[in-house]
Amino acid sequence: MRSIYFSALTLVALLGWGAGPAVTKSFAQSAGAGRANRPNIVVIVSDDHAYQAISAYGSELMQTPHIDRIARNGVLFGKAYVTNSICGPSRAVLLTGKYSHKNGYKSNTDSHFDAGQDSFAKRLQAAGYQTAWIGKYHLGNKLEGFDYWQILPGQGHYFNPDFLFMDGSRKRVEGYVSDLITEAAERWLENRDREKPFCLIIGHKATHRTWMPDTADLGMFDQVEFPLPSNFYDRYINRQAARVQDMSIATTMLLDYDLKMYPEDTKDGNFTRMNPAQRAAYKDYYDPIQRELERSGKRGRELTEWKFQRYMRDYLSTAASLDRNVGRTLDYLEKHGLAENTMVIYMSDQGFYLGEHGWFDKRFMYEESFRTPLLMQYPGHIPPGLVSDEPVMNLDIAPTLLEAAGVPVPGSMQGQSLLPVLRGQAGSREVVYYHYYEHGEHAVSPHFGIRTARYKLIRFYGAVESWELYDLEKDPGEMNNLYGKRRYDRIASDLKEQLVSLIRKYDDAEALALLD
Ligand code: CA
Repeated sequence: MRSIYFSALTLVALLGWGAGPAVTKSFAQSAGAGRANRPNIVVIVSDDHAYQAISAYGSELMQTPHIDRIARNGVLFGKAYVTNSICGPSRAVLLTGKYSHKNGYKSNTDSHFDAGQDSFAKRLQAAGYQTAWIGKYHLGNKLEGFDYWQILPGQGHYFNPDFLFMDGSRKRVEGYVSDLITEAAERWLENRDREKPFCLIIGHKATHRTWMPDTADLGMFDQVEFPLPSNFYDRYINRQAARVQDMSIATTMLLDYDLKMYPEDTKDGNFTRMNPAQRAAYKDYYDPIQRELERSGKRGRELTEWKFQRYMRDYLSTAASLDRNVGRTLDYLEKHGLAENTMVIYMSDQGFYLGEHGWFDKRFMYEESFRTPLLMQYPGHIPPGLVSDEPVMNLDIAPTLLEAAGVPVPGSMQGQSLLPVLRGQAGSREVVYYHYYEHGEHAVSPHFGIRTARYKLIRFYGAVESWELYDLEKDPGEMNNLYGKRRYDRIASDLKEQLVSLIRKYDDAEALALLD
């Protein structure tokens, strides 16, 4: 079966790594913000939203008309990467413009985010911006650099979520989380000081596990049979770290917790906190599916493929509300005359597996979770409909926002502003460095590595000690580990040199110590 999952990769491949975007001179000349006309900034950060599920990225799984609007109005980054593919650490990188080993937040399980450190928010605030973070934050309950914040505690809930407020209060709000976060953002925009520019971060919970759709969206993909990714039945040959993971649809994904085949509740209390109407809508939808599953007696591959279909339907239905709410934020900016002078960024905290390698979740340096959607509109500064294939990172967002606001970028930030690339200048990075630390849920061994235009070299350590090498041109699905094959010895040793050079550049002592 031909996979539709590679259409985005194919698109990017056709464009070619390093093929600079066509940028007209007038745009180049108008770029750079004077203090008199500083842009507003809106950064929408979703959670676990895969580029494979965004139509602007070539997805055929669903349409995302509102995220696609940003692509039409501005730029789609076809090769945007994260430094560490997991929720909290990715937000820490976003705020600080520094790798995890520099900002101190390496993993969700045993790191503490020091909110006292430097961040783009603090610098924008000091430069006269009004700053706000609304929605999922996932870096504790202490925020600095924000004039206003209203966050979900931890992961938060999809239905009738609690919010934490600046005055220390905690309040449960009736409704669906994506709508509530968007509404809170609009309320803040309504009440802001209109004399000052603003920087608003909207942190969405969607599409994080357990992918609970808004009741209005239940069943929207029931008529669709999703094709299995071509490497769905990956056997992880010669790839020990991939073999020992615990994030497969077949064995890790739970019928009750994940796929809602529950009579009463899940461990997160997602079901019990629903109001009677929400609960009735869920029961009306899921109970017949559960009865049909029980009646069918599916097992083995048949059950696994049934789980994949249910996963896709829940995930994509949850994404539908997310996309609608992105549209609502764009509508607000347009209706209030703000769109012309506002830089809008849409990104996820990382990518996600939609069945590739048989998986859900993230963490690995393989493309689906290493890459993140990243789109940006900034009228007058980014020409509409641009596709950039420059290798960029979430590390670059903080410097980008500072440059747009005319605020100097501190040398301690490790990213590079994206604006020069959008002015048609060559990118400052040819090789991307990654380091993942957590070894807990889902049993993914810590690893670090680099991706060049053609190759990827990964060093797993801790639980699994191994190297992996991929030729992405020949093997975009990353199934054939070439490390240790004699004809790749020279390539491997050249890549190791590049790896060491980036480790030194980013001053990652822990990684350096692990290389002989
Ligand atoms: Ca995430």
